[in-house]
Amino acid sequence: MSKYWSPAINSLTPYVPGEQPKQSGLIKLNTNENPYPPSPHAIAALNDYPKERLKLYCDPEATLLKNALKDYFSLDYKNVFVGNGSDEVLALAFMAFFRQEHPILLPETTYSFYDVYCNLYDIAYTQLPLDQDFNIDLKAYEQPNGGIIFANPNAPTGRVLPLEQIEALLKVNTESLVIVDEAYIDFGGESAVELVRKYDNVLVIQTFSKSRSMAGLRVGYALGHEDLIDGLERVKNSFNSYPLDSLAIAGAVASIEDEAYFQATTQKIINSREWTTAQLEALDFNVIPSASNFVFASHQRIAGADLMTYLRGKNLLVRHFKKPGIENYLRISIGTDEEMTALVNALKDYPGITG
Ligand code: PMP
Repeated sequence: MSKYWSPAINSLTPYVPGEQPKQSGLIKLNTNENPYPPSPHAIAALNDYPKERLKLYCDPEATLLKNALKDYFSLDYKNVFVGNGSDEVLALAFMAFFRQEHPILLPETTYSFYDVYCNLYDIAYTQLPLDQDFNIDLKAYEQPNGGIIFANPNAPTGRVLPLEQIEALLKVNTESLVIVDEAYIDFGGESAVELVRKYDNVLVIQTFSKSRSMAGLRVGYALGHEDLIDGLERVKNSFNSYPLDSLAIAGAVASIEDEAYFQATTQKIINSREWTTAQLEALDFNVIPSASNFVFASHQRIAGADLMTYLRGKNLLVRHFKKPGIENYLRISIGTDEEMTALVNALKDYPGITG
């Protein structure tokens, strides 16, 4: 607190990212990073980038990257927006679209940055509960609103909605924007990108942080009708002309060119997820079926917080949210097979884990 703060800053509750430990030797299963390195093509592009060019500003349009994305998704250049991680794209989208007369609608349990943006921009919002199996009930969103946002697959549950349900919502929700945050879509589920060609009120946001192993490079993007992209560009160009640096653009473009690596690493994570799910179930965990690169699991008898502390003592980091309704759950990112074996072995040693 400082007397120099603007009044609105006093009431903010900022998002708290998962721990990035300084200590080495930990198995990090707490922030949904990809355990595999970026594509060798992307690494080569970063190594080979002519560093003397860094004296120049980067391309404010990130033209090469937008072109690569439009080709990848068979869209037009005007349907693509890029930003410094999908967090930034989301922040700009909330500002551009959600400051409306009606409250926006979002799930009660979802990515916890959404309500942080609402508070930052003074956007009214209504949180709708998940059903008892942690599904988002999109029928409940059929009511007057200033906009709708949800993650698909949702975080931290990992549950995915079928595309038909999203399209059914778009058919009736014609007066406001629907944002689908697809940070985890490449690990399961069907993307809503194809709906971008049919509906002018859907914005799909994706990221290079998860399925493309580039969380540290900070590249995210939005796909939508050109008027929506234009709205995002207006906000971006009122804020920061160069959100993506030259290296980020080069690395991201090269990653898109390496489809084989992307497919192979994504499939490895899916396989490890299914193995981990079976192992956890054998240890009396309830595991929510996941379409993402993490599982959300609660033990039938042992409290989530106790398990998290125990695992931390074994150098295994997992995420635990002290939130009503999910406080018994652990969110466990999918690592390599060796890492997941280490997790399962550590859990097997927990006294009384099986009944
Ligand atoms: N959306 C969801 C649902 C997420 O879990 C995350 C990662 N924390 C993000 C967006 C942001 O990812 P990034 O800014 O790294 O693209």
